Amino acid sequence: MLIHESTIEELKEFFLQLNEPSYRAEQLFLRIHKHLSLSVEEFSEFPKRIRNYILENHLFPVLNLNYYETVDEVSDDSGTQKFIFEYQDSKESKSRIFESVWLVSEKRRTACISSQSGCSLNCTFCATAKIPFKGNLSTWQILQQIYQMIRFRKKYVDPQEKITNIVFMGMGEPFYNYDNVIKSAKILNHSKGLNIGARHITISTSGVIPSIERFIAEKQPFNLAISLNHPFNEERSMIMDINTKYPLKDLLNVVKKYTQIYKRNITFEYILIPDVNMNKEHIKELVRIAKNIRFCKFNLIPLNTNFNHWRAPTQEEILRFQEELRNHGILAFYRGSPGKKIHAACGMLALQKGFSGKINV
Ligand code: SAH
Repeated sequence: MLIHESTIEELKEFFLQLNEPSYRAEQLFLRIHKHLSLSVEEFSEFPKRIRNYILENHLFPVLNLNYYETVDEVSDDSGTQKFIFEYQDSKESKSRIFESVWLVSEKRRTACISSQSGCSLNCTFCATAKIPFKGNLSTWQILQQIYQMIRFRKKYVDPQEKITNIVFMGMGEPFYNYDNVIKSAKILNHSKGLNIGARHITISTSGVIPSIERFIAEKQPFNLAISLNHPFNEERSMIMDINTKYPLKDLLNVVKKYTQIYKRNITFEYILIPDVNMNKEHIKELVRIAKNIRFCKFNLIPLNTNFNHWRAPTQEEILRFQEELRNHGILAFYRGSPGKKIHAACGMLALQKGFSGKINV
C-alpha cells in the first residue's frame, strides 16, 4: 500500500482494513497533497496508533533534497532556482539523482519537474542524454519535487508565494513513464490537493506516438507540448533519435488529430541552432507545417548547450526567426533562457556544480 499515491477511495479501503473510520481517508489525502506534510510527525490529527503503523511499515518514504542554487543577481530570471533530489531504491543500490527547477516571472510561479532519472533518449543537443539513464520516477517522486520546492520556497523565500503552473519538462521523457506522469498530474489537479487547473499543467513529449494516442483516447485534460525541433524528417532523426522510431510525418498526423479533437492549440517547442534548423528552408517548411496543423503555437528556445561545436543564436538571429514566423501569421513566443547561469535552463539538467548536503524543508 502506497498511501501517498492512493486515491481517496483506495485510502478508504486502507483504513477499513485497519478498522479505522473512512473519514480518515480524506484527512490523509489532504494532509499529504494539500498541506504537503513530509513526515509522519506532522500528521497531528491522527492518533498515535495510526502514525506508528505508518512509521513501522515504512509507508511514507521521503526524498532527500540535497542541493539548490539560485540566480540571485538582478536580471529577468532572478529568483530561478534549481534543485537536485536523490534517492536509493534499496540500501544496497547506488543513489540516483534528478533535478527540478522553480521558475519565477512577473505573473507565474512554475515548477519544471522530471519524470525520469536521466533519459533514455539521445537528443544530441541535450545534456540529460549524456548521463546514464536510471529509470522511471514513481508518482510520489514526481509529486515530491513540487511539494518539497513549495515547502522550501515558503520556508526560505516567500511564505505567501503560490504555485501557478507545472511543466513536465525536466529530465526524462514523460510519455515513457505515462502512468506515473498522468497519475501525478491528476493528483496535482485534484480539488482536495493543490487544485492546479489542468490547463496550467503541461506535459511535453519528444513524440512518443502511442502515448499521444492514448492521451487523446483518454481525453486527458492537461496541455500537451511537442518538441518539434526540426521540420525535416531525416535531419530531425540526426538530432533526435526518437524520430527514427516515430517519424515526423506520423507525429504530425497524430498532432493534427489532437488539435481536431481537443479544439485547442498544440505547443511546438523549437530549439534554435544556427546552421542546423534556422535557415530559410526551415522557416518555409515550418510555415507549411503550421498552416496544415492550424491550431498551433511555437515556443522558441535558444540552444543552451555547446555540444557538437554548435553555438547559441544571437539575440538578433532569434528575433529575426521569430519575426519571420509571425509575418506568416504564426504564433511564436520567445522567453529567453531563464536559469542558464545555474545550469537550470532547457537541456541543461545534469550539468551541475556539486552537492551541498541535505536541506531540511
Ligand atoms: N523529453 C521531453 C521533455 C523534456 S522538455 C521532450 O523532449 O519534450 C525539454 C525541452 O528542452 C525540449 O523541448 C527540448 O527540445 C529542449 N532542449 C533540450 N536540450 C536543449 C538545449 N541544449 N537548449 C535548448 N533547449 C533544449
